[in-house]
Amino acid sequence: MTLTTHAVIGAAMASTMPTHPVIGFTLAFASHFLLDAIPHWDYPLNSYKADNENHLNDDMPINKGFFIDLSKIGVDMLCGILLVLIFFGFKDGTISATNITWVPFIGLVGGVLPDALQFVYWKWRHQPLIALQKFHLCIHAKSDFNGKPLIGVPFQMVVILVGVVVAKMIINL
Ligand SMILES: [Zn+2]
Repeated sequence: MTLTTHAVIGAAMASTMPTHPVIGFTLAFASHFLLDAIPHWDYPLNSYKADNENHLNDDMPINKGFFIDLSKIGVDMLCGILLVLIFFGFKDGTISATNITWVPFIGLVGGVLPDALQFVYWKWRHQPLIALQKFHLCIHAKSDFNGKPLIGVPFQMVVILVGVVVAKMIINL
């Protein structure tokens, strides 16, 4: 899924257990794979090179397209950070710089980390990244909504909304 969705769901998980950031981080990291297992849409990446014989050979070479991709990924990441800040970033909902809580951002990092590690794998194919990449590929949904953003984008908005609402309910218990 998009980094925005992974970021918000990761932050939502960590926010439900502010006194246990390590567990929150771990659950956020795990949530990445569960979300990827749901058939979903991902925006196309210009530099992405898939090997349909063996996806362990996929790569993202650093070429002209890569820099376009970096801006897409940057915007995606920025959306995630902004939504996390808006939904979970302030301790009692009061918007002020001194009121920012770091726990949701630990969840955000946990939520997006598997995709960052995937990029590291493409550039440095060693253990334990090989094992992690195998798991990432094997759990990733085989059918997807790629090329269908009109279904895929609203779907991820619903996932984000459900995650935020459920987390808020747990936080306010
Ligand atoms: Zn992923």
